Amino acid sequence: MSVNPSEFYTPKILDAQLTGMIKTREPGIYSARLRIPVGVLTSSVLEGLANIAKKYGRGEVYLTVRLGVEIPGIPAESFPALREELAAIGVGLAGCGPRMRTTVACKGTVCPHGNIDTFALAWAIDKELNDSATLPHKFKVAVSGCASSCSKPQVNDVGLVGVSEPELEPSPCISCGLCAEACHLGAITLCGGLPVIDRAKCVSCGDCSKVCPVAAIKPKRTGVDLYAGGRWGREKQVGLRIAGYLTQEEAVLATGNIKKWYAGNGRKKERLGQSILRTGPSFFQKEVLKGIPKTKWVQLTPEAGAAFAVLR
Ligand code: SF4
Ligand code: SF4
Ligand code: SF4
Repeated sequence: MSVNPSEFYTPKILDAQLTGMIKTREPGIYSARLRIPVGVLTSSVLEGLANIAKKYGRGEVYLTVRLGVEIPGIPAESFPALREELAAIGVGLAGCGPRMRTTVACKGTVCPHGNIDTFALAWAIDKELNDSATLPHKFKVAVSGCASSCSKPQVNDVGLVGVSEPELEPSPCISCGLCAEACHLGAITLCGGLPVIDRAKCVSCGDCSKVCPVAAIKPKRTGVDLYAGGRWGREKQVGLRIAGYLTQEEAVLATGNIKKWYAGNGRKKERLGQSILRTGPSFFQKEVLKGIPKTKWVQLTPEAGAAFAVLR
């Protein structure tokens, strides 16, 4: 079956998209995109979704690349009943089109590498900021628990990454070398039996302090790094790191400031990264970090500015 591109983005399709019903190649048949913040589904919701997929769709459920869930094969006339049955099991339809998408999080809450409670942060953002308000374009937020960045936060409009800065207290060290072995970036070498951290190589993943058996390497501080303006599509941009070691509350505040700034300053069909390039990264940083202590602002170097480029 072929798709006529002129059928996309008609007012009717946009209306359907607002409700989380995604157009498919089959005329009049939609995929229901569900709002599953952080990708956590209970067994009772799973049972309910299985029944709904059988009743209204083809008995199938799709998993999207952003931890989303879609039920395919839904005829347009089934929308109202489907919505009611989803609401009865506590599931809503997700936003699509030019608006905020469901916040994605890696499993940092339970992952041994996690430096922050990724589920809690993503839930807080989704609860406080996710609405159906129209924005210039789509607006995606992703949270990762450590520098491994499993949820790809740097290619989302807002990316939040848990960080842990290591600090050595030499006296308890037993020179076992486990910290150097744990560091994937070769940032630790043992000199005279004591670890030395190369700060230029360190990405604050926190793995060295997690393996130290005597807590000689400990986190000096933990928190959330904030990236803005990333995107992945026909054109790509790697987000610009604008703040570091935020608390959960500060991360939610800054994400809200960014969404508000984008709503007021972004041009139609312009992604946040393009808006930042057009208005200037320093101006953007000043505007969106109001209320965040200056000590947590990342100094924007010319190199960082040059790396924040549009890629294909
Ligand atoms: S980003 Fe880090 S904390 Fe999150 S799942 Fe990957 S390794 Fe674990
Ligand atoms: S925090 Fe991570 S990158 Fe930095 S020294 Fe420790 S293990 Fe290496
Ligand atoms: S893991 Fe801890 S005890 Fe072992 S060398 Fe590193 S700092 Fe010292």
